[in-house]
Amino acid sequence: MRALIISDVHSNLEALQAVLEDARRKGGFDEVWCLGDLVGYGPDPGPCIDLLRSLPLIAVAGNHDLAAVGRLGLEEFNPVAAEANRWTARRLRPEHAAFLASLPLRIERDDFILVHGSPRDPVWEYVGWWPDPAGNFQAYGTHYCLVGHSHTPFLCLATPTGCRFEAFQEKVSVSLAEERLILNPGSVGQPRDGDPRSSYAVLESQARRIELHRVDYNLALTQTKIREAGLPAWLAERLAQGQ
Ligand code: ZN
Repeated sequence: MRALIISDVHSNLEALQAVLEDARRKGGFDEVWCLGDLVGYGPDPGPCIDLLRSLPLIAVAGNHDLAAVGRLGLEEFNPVAAEANRWTARRLRPEHAAFLASLPLRIERDDFILVHGSPRDPVWEYVGWWPDPAGNFQAYGTHYCLVGHSHTPFLCLATPTGCRFEAFQEKVSVSLAEERLILNPGSVGQPRDGDPRSSYAVLESQARRIELHRVDYNLALTQTKIREAGLPAWLAERLAQGQ
């Protein structure tokens, strides 16, 4: 079984289409595992939800998804994120809102648990930026954990004394071995690791390996749509910077 692992699409249709195309070209996938924040920031919430729902999808909710359907307040959002979230909420059709509201915070699949932030706090924790990241290994029962939220690919390996972070590098195959592991595939729609290309991972469950890929998309078109929608200009600028 091959699973396409994506996170933080953030209403960026061009990026999502480019990822799906690239993944299909590189061997395809049987399922799509989505780690939340389908919407927020970008100009195409409805089309992104429709496209995702046309796929064999499992998905958890992210903080932006919850806020867009009134399940989370905007107090913790920065002003630009809050403005974009209010814009998104106004544009969601009832069926899109109902779909987002139906997403769980955690899904277990095979040896994996899928969450948005962390197993300890699926809504808000940034693994690696909050204290005691290793404490997350006590917060879930499966061997491996997939997270999004920070928009930065990484590997966090359990060690006898805590944990160790490593870069999750493009085209380097990561073997799923004995060590417990938290993986972040980066962001499809708003990468923040200085590389503006969309980021995603593919799990090959029989071969027990997982690989990260990056792909260019029509960023100029997304920027134009953001500006024409009246969303904050910074949301267009940051895409080009990968910030
Ligand atoms: Zn996000």
